[in-house]
Amino acid sequence: MSREETRRIALERIHILFRLADEVFPENPERAQRYIDLARRIAMRCRVKLPRELRRRICKYCKSLLRPGVNCRVRVRQRREPHIVVTCFNCGRVSRYPIRRKG
Ligand SMILES: [Zn+2]
Repeated sequence: MSREETRRIALERIHILFRLADEVFPENPERAQRYIDLARRIAMRCRVKLPRELRRRICKYCKSLLRPGVNCRVRVRQRREPHIVVTCFNCGRVSRYPIRRKG
């Protein structure tokens, strides 16, 4: 199997794991977290970067799956460079992500 193919399959699995995590989270947050940990391990093993939209759904510090309004708070700030501020309720730390405008 080519390296490209390995990566493609890894990304597919990662997306599936995130979807599963979202599905089970309301009933079983521990299992959801296990899916996320598994997705991160696949990414590391296959040396693929988590796509940005998925990376932002994991706390940078404690690696928990973030669910806005459940275990994190998401705020949009317009001062200086517009950015998103995500506060993780699990570890209490704050991640900031710039908002990129299209075009
Ligand atoms: Zn955290």
